[in-house]
Amino acid sequence: MDTSELHNVPRNVGWIEVVCGCMFSGKTEELIRRLRRAQIARQKVAVFKPRIDNRYSTEHIVSHSEQSLVSQVVDDAQEILAASRDAQVVGIDEGQFFKANLVEVCEKLANQGKRVIVAGLDQDYRGKPFEPIPQLLAIAEYITKTLAICVVCGNPADKTQRKTAQSERVVVGAKDIYEARCRKCHLAPED
Ligand code: ZN
Repeated sequence: MDTSELHNVPRNVGWIEVVCGCMFSGKTEELIRRLRRAQIARQKVAVFKPRIDNRYSTEHIVSHSEQSLVSQVVDDAQEILAASRDAQVVGIDEGQFFKANLVEVCEKLANQGKRVIVAGLDQDYRGKPFEPIPQLLAIAEYITKTLAICVVCGNPADKTQRKTAQSERVVVGAKDIYEARCRKCHLAPED
């Protein structure tokens, strides 16, 4: 839910929005859409992403549909506090690649009166909750779960299928390594 669609819009208070889902579900697109609308309203926006992701660009957050927004790359969520001091709206992409301290950082930002929007994978390639997104969901005011379309059967999909045999939790890639699948078609590797 985009807060601009609510009748009871928060005033003089910060809050946390989480946009979560599998790969190719449009999370980053949705994050960019919300941030652009804030920029159009002349709100001060700061955008961050973790260093691990250099798929397309190191200074932009980029959706799979090639929309992009200038962003700052940080090694640790802690850096976001100082770097967003002047911002009214803080956008964070690829939230699942941050450590557990992302949760307290987001809480501090929201307590300072900022609107915090985090996009991230809610499940890993095995279909297990992908920390720290579950912890963020618990403390967020607004949650959007974006669904993709299963490449096998066309049903709504919320799982990320890894097409290679790598077993590390984090393997950065796009359509070469991953595809979206529904519950029925997702094949979780053996533990
Ligand atoms: Zn399916």
